[in-house]
Amino acid sequence: MKACVLETAAPIEQNPLAFTEVPVPEPGAHEVLVRVHACGVCRTDLHVVEGELPPRKLPLIPGHQIVGVVERLGEGARRFRPGARVGIAWLHHTDQSCEYCRAGMENLCDQPSFTGYTVDGGYAEYAVAPEDWIYPIPDGFADEQAAPLLCAGIIGFRSLRLSGIKPGGRLGLYGFGAAAHVAIQVARHWNVEVYACTRDQRHRDLALELGAAWAGGTVDPPPVKLDSAIIFAPAGEIVPAALAALRKGGVLALGGIHMSPIPPLDYKLLYQERVVRSVANNTRQDGNDFLRIAAEIPIKTQMQIYPLAEANRALNALKNDAIRGAAVLDISGF
Ligand SMILES: [Zn+2]
Ligand SMILES: [Zn+2]
Repeated sequence: MKACVLETAAPIEQNPLAFTEVPVPEPGAHEVLVRVHACGVCRTDLHVVEGELPPRKLPLIPGHQIVGVVERLGEGARRFRPGARVGIAWLHHTDQSCEYCRAGMENLCDQPSFTGYTVDGGYAEYAVAPEDWIYPIPDGFADEQAAPLLCAGIIGFRSLRLSGIKPGGRLGLYGFGAAAHVAIQVARHWNVEVYACTRDQRHRDLALELGAAWAGGTVDPPPVKLDSAIIFAPAGEIVPAALAALRKGGVLALGGIHMSPIPPLDYKLLYQERVVRSVANNTRQDGNDFLRIAAEIPIKTQMQIYPLAEANRALNALKNDAIRGAAVLDISGF
């Protein structure tokens, strides 16, 4: 099969992904082989390709927002029939036996595996995944539209949950890429007022189109105090500005898997019971809940589509804030 393979992590400007031919993977017990139609491009892929996340498997096929159809069943797999349209997301597998899994917090599992990081992902014609960790894709979404829902959407949704935002509340979104452009649609559905802080004018325009009450620069103070905020940009230097924008008791959720160092904080930014918390992975419950609400709204994802062979170019564009909405690889077009 055709695939984009990472041999050695390197800056994306060096085009580290090789478009090449590799064997089709074999589904193991209780796994399915999925023929990939589309795979979303996530900032985490950039962190993996550039080595900001320490390599866990090399060579590696990145990609964890996979939409395709079940091609073949591994031994004992019976949840889906061949031809069923499914999504494979970041959380590839959890052990179900550690203290976190047993407490309903499989997102914090001690022995997790992650799609496109510890196991091969979807920058390829085929991918395998355990049947219990994949999602049926709601009918209303085209393949390319559904792909960004699987990480940008699910993680954005968990970030909203952990931010504690309530209907009618005021929410700040810092960085306005793929995750924020989905999260704002859920927030507006909940009648939340959204304030977008982002350095790129095109991203500010998109936020306003999607119903933001206000859009400004990354550290510009919003015109009102916020109940909650989410930082999606991987930039720790935003934390003090986002805390300063919160009301007393407000919550700041950090949505990224990687962030540059957070500068020293003046305690008065945190005092008055403000909370800073990170968001790590997601549970399958988050995924199922989000896909249901995404179909109800329905979420409209904005995409820029690249052929599989041009994954390096898509990641370069992502790094340079040049994607409006989400980047998606069309696997059928190579
Ligand atoms: Zn576990
Ligand atoms: Zn992701």
